[in-house]
Amino acid sequence: MSSIDSKVEKGYFGEFGGSFVPDELKVILDNIGKQFEKYKDDPEFIEEFRYYLKEYVGRENPLTFAKNLTQKIGGAKIYLKREDLNHTGAHKINNALGQILLAKRMGAKRIIAETGAGQHGVATATASAMIGLPCTIYMGKLDTERQALNVFRMQLLGAEVVAVDKGRGRLKEAVDEAFEDLVKNHEDTFYLIGSAVGPYPYPEMVKHFQSIISLESKQQILEKEGKLPTAIVACTGGGSNAIGSFANYIEDEGVRLIGVEPLEAPTISEGVPAVFHGYISLTLFDENGDPKPTNSIAAGLDYQGVGPEHSYLHSIGRGEYVTASGQEALEALQELSKVEGIIPALESSHAVAHSMKLAKELNKDDIIIVNISGRGDKDVNQVYDMLTK
Ligand SMILES: *Cc1c(COP(=O)(O)O)cnc(C)c1O
Repeated sequence: MSSIDSKVEKGYFGEFGGSFVPDELKVILDNIGKQFEKYKDDPEFIEEFRYYLKEYVGRENPLTFAKNLTQKIGGAKIYLKREDLNHTGAHKINNALGQILLAKRMGAKRIIAETGAGQHGVATATASAMIGLPCTIYMGKLDTERQALNVFRMQLLGAEVVAVDKGRGRLKEAVDEAFEDLVKNHEDTFYLIGSAVGPYPYPEMVKHFQSIISLESKQQILEKEGKLPTAIVACTGGGSNAIGSFANYIEDEGVRLIGVEPLEAPTISEGVPAVFHGYISLTLFDENGDPKPTNSIAAGLDYQGVGPEHSYLHSIGRGEYVTASGQEALEALQELSKVEGIIPALESSHAVAHSMKLAKELNKDDIIIVNISGRGDKDVNQVYDMLTK
């Protein structure tokens, strides 16, 4: 197991990953990869990233002992990694910031991104405003209508939101449009991808910037408990908060890495390997071979694909991937809110739901770290509707 990293070829995680895009685009993406490799270990770049993580995002965030929840369940100790306390209320800003700083080093004059639910669009618009670069966010037309408030947030932050009125007006069409823009304008434009998905180099790059989560949590748990946790639990949509939470424990064989998918979008549990959005990973298809529509209550997890490294960790048995239903997540959201005074995002609530089950099965000297990927403020209207209608 200790040779996991050396087995990972550039852009590939076992049989997963790679870059399946037109040649013209591949050249552009490979160059982003080269620049990323160049700057990621550059002391000045690291210092700048750390500066903004501290002064702008508010890191490090706490690893909170969930004393009441632990007592109530009566099994393993539960700790919460508090990404919900970041500026903008979730983990996405870590990655947006890292890529913006890379874009600046590469001399980009303009940022583009695509977003489905709007959360990545908001993180990108935020980081762009902070660094002073204009930004264009592509969004399926149907999604702009469903997520009108997030569109307005992006506009407040100075972004231009382009409603893509093609195909079904969803994320896929927005991704296509963003790649087209990049091919046309790559001389001065940087494409900022929001999860550990997409062709090389994005899965590596997003993991790198999100691995700050486990860099902190490892140090924090060693300080508090003097030992490593039994398990890390994180929700898995595209997989960025999960891979960031796992990253610094992958080599620690004794630490279980558990990704929690929504029962309504069980990509790893039920998907098959395929090229989707430019890379090979497990993907959900319907009986006609079309990407299968998913139906999670958590917009950030409602996706047929997943980052390639998760498919790989699953294939070699290093990662465990389980599901939690929307109903279980809704109950976990209410439980954590009542017992600890912390309202988790609906996405994170899937991880909380599984952690509560797992804690019961484990002993008092076991430790679970659950990643609270975001705060639930964005979800209270939806939760209100679900509980009252
Ligand atoms: C976007 C989002 C997710 C899902 O994205 P990952 O890339 O899987 O982390 C999870 N939680 C929150 C709060 C989000 O905003």
